[in-house]
Amino acid sequence: MIPIRCFTCTKVVGNLWEPFKQKLQDDRSPNEALYELGLTRYCCRRMLISHLDLTDKFLMYNCPSYTTDANDSSPVDERVEKSGPVNIQQQILRVASRHL
Ligand SMILES: [Zn+2]
Repeated sequence: MIPIRCFTCTKVVGNLWEPFKQKLQDDRSPNEALYELGLTRYCCRRMLISHLDLTDKFLMYNCPSYTTDANDSSPVDERVEKSGPVNIQQQILRVASRHL
């Protein structure tokens, strides 16, 4: 996930990631793509140039899950053993469904 704003000047750059990737696939150089997106400051350009989209790669790995029950006072290690490992995609969906 790309940061929404440039760390230095706070310009919104998060919405430019997908158009940037598309321009690179259309055989434009990174320099051309960044100028076409209106990014002239090097602080904003580095946000896209140096970004690695690792979300899909992280989704391939399982991680332990633990209960978030407020009444459960057992240590985190025990809570992990109780629930066992779950797929991280299931975990993300579970957390997201709580906020919908
Ligand atoms: Zn900037």
